[in-house]
Amino acid sequence: MSCRPVRAPVPPTPVADTLACRPDVIKAMVGAWIETGDGTSGAEAGFRIDVGTKDLKVVPHEHTNEQGSLTTVITILTTAEFHVHPKGTGGAPSTPENNILGDPNHGDTKVADDAKIDIYTFNEQGLFVYRWDTKQIIKLRDGFDWQNPCHP
Ligand SMILES: [Zn+2]
Repeated sequence: MSCRPVRAPVPPTPVADTLACRPDVIKAMVGAWIETGDGTSGAEAGFRIDVGTKDLKVVPHEHTNEQGSLTTVITILTTAEFHVHPKGTGGAPSTPENNILGDPNHGDTKVADDAKIDIYTFNEQGLFVYRWDTKQIIKLRDGFDWQNPCHP
């Protein structure tokens, strides 16, 4: 048997993530993916996670019809944000260096740092999160596995 190392921008790391494993969050991710025509519309769709009185709340983003980016509302109650990356554009959160606008003041990681929230991105390449507190991009799930319930 020969194993060739695969060069990937973000190595798959098996990390338990309670937020991305919640059934209501998985359902919302699947819904956002369908909303973008399975990642083919070029638009991004997603939702934010707000802290509610009893539990976290999934709050869908308004439609903006932007191509390859998404203007979202983040409130003081927001703790995380999830959005689709169009098919073929890379799964991981964008950065000031690689965002589609070519603008050093944009990118998912910049938004996350400014708002102090975690940003999750997903498409056919998997589910990724950028954690603002550790400044790390982590691949949580591979391929379309984010559509399935998490295994213990
Ligand atoms: Zn993004």
